[in-house]
Amino acid sequence: MNKDYIIEQLKKQIEGFESSVSEESVGTVLEVGDGVARISGLAGAMASEMVEFPNGDLGVVLNLEEDQVGIMLLGDMKVIKEGDVVKSTGKILSVPVGEKMIGRVVDALGMPLDGKGEIKTDVRYPVEKIAPGVITRKSVHQPLQTGIKAIDALIPVGRGQRELIIGDRQTGKTAVAIDTIINQKGQGVKCIYVAIGQKESKVARIVSMLEEAGAMEYTTVVVAGAAMPVSLSFMAPYTGTAIGEYFMDKGEDVLVVHDDLSKHAAAYRQISLILRRPPGREAYPGDVFYLHSRLLERSAKLNEENGGGSLTALPIIETQGGDVSAYIPTNVISITDGQIYLESDLFYKGIRPALNVGLSVSRVGSSAQIKAMKQVAGTLRLDLAQFRELEAFAQFGSDLDDKTKKLIERGKRGVEMLKQAQYSPLSVEHEVAALYALTRGHLDDVAVEDLVEWEKNFHDYLNNEGKAVIDSLQQEKALTPAVEDLLKEYIQKYKDITAIA
Ligand code: ATP
Ligand code: MG
Repeated sequence: MNKDYIIEQLKKQIEGFESSVSEESVGTVLEVGDGVARISGLAGAMASEMVEFPNGDLGVVLNLEEDQVGIMLLGDMKVIKEGDVVKSTGKILSVPVGEKMIGRVVDALGMPLDGKGEIKTDVRYPVEKIAPGVITRKSVHQPLQTGIKAIDALIPVGRGQRELIIGDRQTGKTAVAIDTIINQKGQGVKCIYVAIGQKESKVARIVSMLEEAGAMEYTTVVVAGAAMPVSLSFMAPYTGTAIGEYFMDKGEDVLVVHDDLSKHAAAYRQISLILRRPPGREAYPGDVFYLHSRLLERSAKLNEENGGGSLTALPIIETQGGDVSAYIPTNVISITDGQIYLESDLFYKGIRPALNVGLSVSRVGSSAQIKAMKQVAGTLRLDLAQFRELEAFAQFGSDLDDKTKKLIERGKRGVEMLKQAQYSPLSVEHEVAALYALTRGHLDDVAVEDLVEWEKNFHDYLNNEGKAVIDSLQQEKALTPAVEDLLKEYIQKYKDITAIA
């Protein structure tokens, strides 16, 4: 071969040579255990930045200290060992979002758990995001119907609201949230159910119930199971909110359920204590309030210029022995716009949903109620309040004057009417029709113990013969004289039929 040719080639190569030195911020693992690693190096790390371990697992920077950083591990912590090299990625932790997430069950990193294959989406949202500002918001004004009579009438929830569901264990907290999701069918609301630290079998049951009810068509389930690393429990509510924010930004309505934030706080406490952050009240770190407030602040109703979307949050808190004044319950009560308070006593008495009507509140929802519901709910609230006062006298039945007796009888029917079986949410028209019959005295001659049966058949009757009532309620959304006449007519017709039967 020609010598000149070789020289020529070499020269070309040298000319084309570009030195490409890239800077990489790395560190080494000092110690690892309990889902947390301490790293030396990584001097340029940011808070909430993702870091990568040699096996591709991810971690999140939580603690920035003078000579080391504390990292929460998101993957299999058993394979990471002392001396491993950790690379910073320069990226803030994010999760996949988009239409493809609907109908799926995913973990806190947005990875599928349902065996239905990879989720193909190229949009990612950061898990931590600053909440929409005041200027971009609008006040809550559209109802988010839960389909549960007692809640829609007395503690109404509006789109963009944060309403806490609080109660002891096994009081029907999850049931309220799941019924609300089921009731969103055909309402154009995307739902996200975040299961935090629950047993996998329990979550599997919930998913199959949602599937059976056809609710998975518009729902994503985010699971951080009890058997998964605690860091995922900590992340899950943020992931669920990020998935919801994608739809809110597109101008859609979203409902996010956090089941439950007590376990979320406990997960955060565990991580913080291992990272040796100073423990505060009940051993929770000092910023546990901020943890929940920055999460729930991301619920919003956006104004028209910003697409008009909304994100409603239903966080759940489990209390111990009905103590709502413990640290985490008081925190979340003060962050949310009201609470649905469920009580064990009522639950065991058979009043289900076990709603304590006196202690439950909704601070913004009533402006979102349709007029017809407002018209029946006002009377109902008064009836129930009077009944609670007089209930104690009820046992002296015979000594009471007629007016008091009447109030007690009406109250008993009110309590009975607000009972509702699980998985049977009602449309707002049906709710109004039933509550109208109650509050306008049409049920005073129906025996209390027959009321459940009466109501069930009444709804069937309205669906078949009484379509006109439902249609006119749907159209008018208020109890106009015409609608009232129609209601009275059909209630009477129905009573006539049942009297014969
Ligand atoms: P946990 O503290 O275990 O999470 P929870 O407060 O979420 O419990 P659920 O799991 O929703 O409570 O309900 C407890 C039990 O009560 C379940 O068996 C459920 O089927 C039943 N239940 C809930 N709501 C009703 C209802 N409205 N009518 C009849 N049964 C109900
Ligand atoms: Mg539950």
